[in-house]
Amino acid sequence: MKTPHKYIFVIGGVMSGVGKGIACSSIGTLLQAKGFSVNLLKVDPYLNVDAGTMNPTEHGEVFVINSGLETDQDMGNYERFLHRDLANDDYITSGMVYQHVISAERALKYGGHCVEAIPHIRDEIIRRFQHSAKVNQSDITVIEIGGTVGDYQNIMFIEAARTMKVYHPQDVVFVMVSYLPIPSKLGEMKSKPTQNAIRQLNSYGVNTDIIIARSEVPMDHKRKEKIAVSCSLPVENVISAPDIESVFDVSLNFEKDNLGNILLKSLHMKKRSTGKGMGEWEDFAKKVKSVTKPVNIAIVGKYFNTGDFVLTDAYVSVLEAIKYSAYSLGRKPVIHTINARDYEGEKAKTADFGALKKFDGIIVPGGFGETGIEGKLAVIKYAREKKIPYFGLCYGMQLMIIEYARNVLGLKDANTAEINPNSSAVVIDIMPDQKKKLAEGNYGGSMRLGAYESKLKEGTIAMKAYGKEIISERHRHRYEVNPEYIKKIEDAGLVFSGVSPDGRLMEIAELPKNKHPFFLGTQFHPEFLARPLAPHPLFTEFIKVAINKKNRN
Ligand code: GLN
Repeated sequence: MKTPHKYIFVIGGVMSGVGKGIACSSIGTLLQAKGFSVNLLKVDPYLNVDAGTMNPTEHGEVFVINSGLETDQDMGNYERFLHRDLANDDYITSGMVYQHVISAERALKYGGHCVEAIPHIRDEIIRRFQHSAKVNQSDITVIEIGGTVGDYQNIMFIEAARTMKVYHPQDVVFVMVSYLPIPSKLGEMKSKPTQNAIRQLNSYGVNTDIIIARSEVPMDHKRKEKIAVSCSLPVENVISAPDIESVFDVSLNFEKDNLGNILLKSLHMKKRSTGKGMGEWEDFAKKVKSVTKPVNIAIVGKYFNTGDFVLTDAYVSVLEAIKYSAYSLGRKPVIHTINARDYEGEKAKTADFGALKKFDGIIVPGGFGETGIEGKLAVIKYAREKKIPYFGLCYGMQLMIIEYARNVLGLKDANTAEINPNSSAVVIDIMPDQKKKLAEGNYGGSMRLGAYESKLKEGTIAMKAYGKEIISERHRHRYEVNPEYIKKIEDAGLVFSGVSPDGRLMEIAELPKNKHPFFLGTQFHPEFLARPLAPHPLFTEFIKVAINKKNRN
């Protein structure tokens, strides 16, 4: 008989931001290494139907999966740690669930019954959990419930999980990722907040099977026991998860604490001998810690400032992509965040452009709207003229085209329709398919989204990097290179080295190697496909050139 599908629900205790997503991803890595096929599912309790309409400064990066669904940045971690693509069914928001139930109600699907949170919302959640397991054909689904215990927003999801456990007690486990603070005045690790979180979870009728206790330092046995007793658990089910140097060590630490086997035992599963073990992951994690020679990469963006904090969450996939390629080349990635606004307007007059030379490479990542655009254009111009390796991602490619049109073709007014549709040279224009959606005020999911193929041109940097003619990459944009300008731009020296298979859309632009060591932009987001065990070829090529400084001006 086939073993029934197993579910691991991961819930946060005490506070958010303690690494629940990394814990889930690492559980995935660990169980995969033990020979089980795993899919990870993220529950976002927001009423947004997808993450596409959320501001990156507030919510972090919008991660696009192959299908085009716009999801939470945790999904990026899942794909990176599992080294596998995820499906639409691996992402659930409250908005999706409610929208489905309300539409069904409007279509008289409930046969005149009163439609209520219990059972209808709960059952729709359960249906989605089970459907994701089916679509993925996996052995185990790890489900991260967003937020922390005690939030109003995630109660329905916890209730759905509890109900599943009532019917299938052997197939469902709960893991709580909690936090044990060490107040500086006391200098002692306090377990009370975690005990309270456990009690809060108990009040929902759920007892956790495993606790992952996050803290600055490893937890001592006394505290482990205290928590074990207060949550009626064997002490070995309390896993100490101290802060560590690199997130890639988390799964290795979990393995040391036997978490994989404890999970399998709690799920009534037998160990398998087919797993390939953690060897490859261990080698990677070791490399991360052993590289010392730096490569300095600057990211010029605008989503950095939230109050007094500098937030890099908005570009997390870009940062990760840089890191994996740097590690693979034996370099320590040192990433500098540059605020584009420091290079425009009044500030441009005094800005120290020369300081940009200290970077081995410059990236302008994706973005929207007008803020910081002139600053980014000024930096791109400098990188082009001084032959500093430049990599433009999506908006970063569109701006590279605008800069080239303004300063090389002499079209001083060149712009994107996103900023000035009345410019005399709209070199980046709205895609016809998107015009209609916008006219209807339909912004959610209204872009060109998800995986599309491109055809690469022989003899280009892109072709050399990928080593093949047809590639597939993920997109998220409304605008594209205006076909009317393609010939003019090419005549002026820029090469469109990647185009859509029908030749209509320009996907990669680059300057030939004899003109610039690396001046390349992609209309897609290569960062979404970079994985620790499979760095992205374009990022690797960019870093390779960045390391080799001899071609600079
Ligand atoms: N704002 C640009 C567009 O919509 C670029 C989008 C992006 O960088 N993701 O086309």
